[in-house]
Amino acid sequence: MSDIRFTYVPGDGIGPEVGAAANNVLHAMAEKYGHELKIDKHLIGGAAIDAMGTPLPANTLASCQETGAILLGAVGGPKWDHLKGADRPELGSLLPLRKELNLYTNIRPAKPHPALMDNIPLRPEYLQGVDFIVVRELTGGIYFGKKGRDNLGAYDECRYSEAEVKRIAVKAFELARTRRKKVTSVDKSNVLETSRLWREVVIKTAEDYPDVELEHLLVDAMTMHMLTRGQEFDVILTENMFGDILTDEASVLCGSMGVIPSASLSDGKVGMYEPIHGSAPDIAGQGKANPLAMILSASWMLRTSFGLDDEANAIDAAVDAALSGGHTTGDLGGSLSTSDVGNWIGEYVRG
Ligand code: NAD
Repeated sequence: MSDIRFTYVPGDGIGPEVGAAANNVLHAMAEKYGHELKIDKHLIGGAAIDAMGTPLPANTLASCQETGAILLGAVGGPKWDHLKGADRPELGSLLPLRKELNLYTNIRPAKPHPALMDNIPLRPEYLQGVDFIVVRELTGGIYFGKKGRDNLGAYDECRYSEAEVKRIAVKAFELARTRRKKVTSVDKSNVLETSRLWREVVIKTAEDYPDVELEHLLVDAMTMHMLTRGQEFDVILTENMFGDILTDEASVLCGSMGVIPSASLSDGKVGMYEPIHGSAPDIAGQGKANPLAMILSASWMLRTSFGLDDEANAIDAAVDAALSGGHTTGDLGGSLSTSDVGNWIGEYVRG
């Protein structure tokens, strides 16, 4: 029996809906395993702009720093699209949160669930055996570089230090050691100086991991290889912007945006866990949002930030049962609402 204290930031659009379903499942888990949940709920994104005039209020950031475990729904939506730069929900909350908590490792899995094969617009032979993880550098590169406008136009600076590349490369090699022992590093070293440094540092880091195979691919080629020979990848290591693009492409291999969780991690147990999808304003408030990615994000938090493997496994098994039994929302061909799916999984976890 232990306290599980985390910061819950539902955000905008479907964030609060999928968040409620995930919290329902967490309560079922806590009941079954005798834990006490202590949930620090705070505003973020557009909801925080509306209520407090800023996308990342000081008390939200302070809670995230204090608990070191954050469950995030999604931020953004058309209501705030007219805002610019750091006034926007996404730029003004997610990026500073990643930087402030030093969440430099973003991890997203890609493994199609057998029950979702019909949802995927690729022939089954391209999907059989696909099981890889993308390790994306999250606090450097072009997203964090100096940006602006001058009399020549606009610019976004891309910078990486050796230390930034080294620490994310180490994460990828360490992860590969627990899996099929292969790292595919993706860069654009035929054009970009930051990519040439990236490749040099990755090659140097690989010397400490002689048991792990290392392959390099250029990002443009990778967009093809990911869909045509996805089975051959184990851990894909890449920089911030390439990872942003490749992970959305990887979601095609999984059948729906609504089933893929992600973790953004620092050293130790500090982490932010969120579904890969956005706030889906087109379906917000209608009970149509698939909560599985959010529920899997919650189980990832239990495993990584709290070391609760059995509890996380119980939730993962319940999600698996929901998928296999068709207890799903409409995007996966089911007929349940967001809260119905949360209730079904909660009951399954209670046993
Ligand atoms: P989106 O992921 O919100 O939606 C893309 C499509 O997928 C939509 O048709 C949506 O209905 C569907 N979808 C997404 N999640 C779903 C779910 N759980 N269940 C069923 N269907 C789902 O992407 P978008 O439309 O490009 O962006 C909407 C807003 O979200 C924008 O403001 C964007 O900036 C923001 N966004 C936020 C994050 C984040 O908070 N981390 C990530 C991506 C986008």
